[in-house]
Amino acid sequence: MENIVLLHSGAGSDTSFSKRLDNYASRASKNFNALDNATNSVVLMENDPDFNAGTGSVPRIDGTIQMDAAVAIQDNFGSVIAIENVKNPVLIARDVMLKSPHIMLSGDGAIKFARIMGHSEYNPMTKKAQKLIEKLKNDYKNNNFPEKFKDFYHDTVGAVARVGNEFAAAVSTGGAFPMLRGRVGDSPIPGAGIFVGKKGAVVATGMGEEIAKSILSYKIYSKIGEKGLADIIKEEIAKFNVSVGIIAIDSENYAYYANKPMAIGIKKF
Ligand code: ASP
Repeated sequence: MENIVLLHSGAGSDTSFSKRLDNYASRASKNFNALDNATNSVVLMENDPDFNAGTGSVPRIDGTIQMDAAVAIQDNFGSVIAIENVKNPVLIARDVMLKSPHIMLSGDGAIKFARIMGHSEYNPMTKKAQKLIEKLKNDYKNNNFPEKFKDFYHDTVGAVARVGNEFAAAVSTGGAFPMLRGRVGDSPIPGAGIFVGKKGAVVATGMGEEIAKSILSYKIYSKIGEKGLADIIKEEIAKFNVSVGIIAIDSENYAYYANKPMAIGIKKF
């Protein structure tokens, strides 16, 4: 069975990004380690301002940028929640998993931990985010919030990887615009936006509140082996009436599906 890295750039993303994601998957798949392959893929997407993660993250309604990220391997997990002023949240999530006694760190504590681990201060604000803040202010004035913005933002990023019998997953997001400061979606919650076990790896994207309420990633993982991976994913996504997408791998296959367009990158090696 070939090794694989599979990336997504969010339910609702521009599918013309797929070529770029293929390239990121290839660049990230050099060192034949599932965790590094998934994490490095996400770092490349966090550094690309076209995506809603790291540089390019969407703002909160108060104009700040808070980001969520997570990594998972079998029997281990790390995430950061509402972290600010760092370049690569996914690398801090990996440090939480590998270098701290905890699995999740949030807010100020996550930022302090990042600095101790050597991640320097960085402002992920972009012109795109500033424009969104302006648009939101105008819409407030015109009383259009929240309908006009409902389900508006996407382009969160994620990766699943398999190398031999080893699985890993990574995810990173600026969240689902518009949202309150402090809002937490599915991405940094184990079993909600991400899950890895001995049967495979699953990452979700889309409306985080709904994904988390249904513990979607664990639900899909738990059904691996009952039928084809693609069928499991499609059946679960059919239960949602908001945007949702999944990438997943098991020991035999990989599969992805979203109820909106979703850019995908793949590297087999
Ligand atoms: N799931 C992310 C969140 O709710 C957003 C996304 O995947 O587009 O934070």
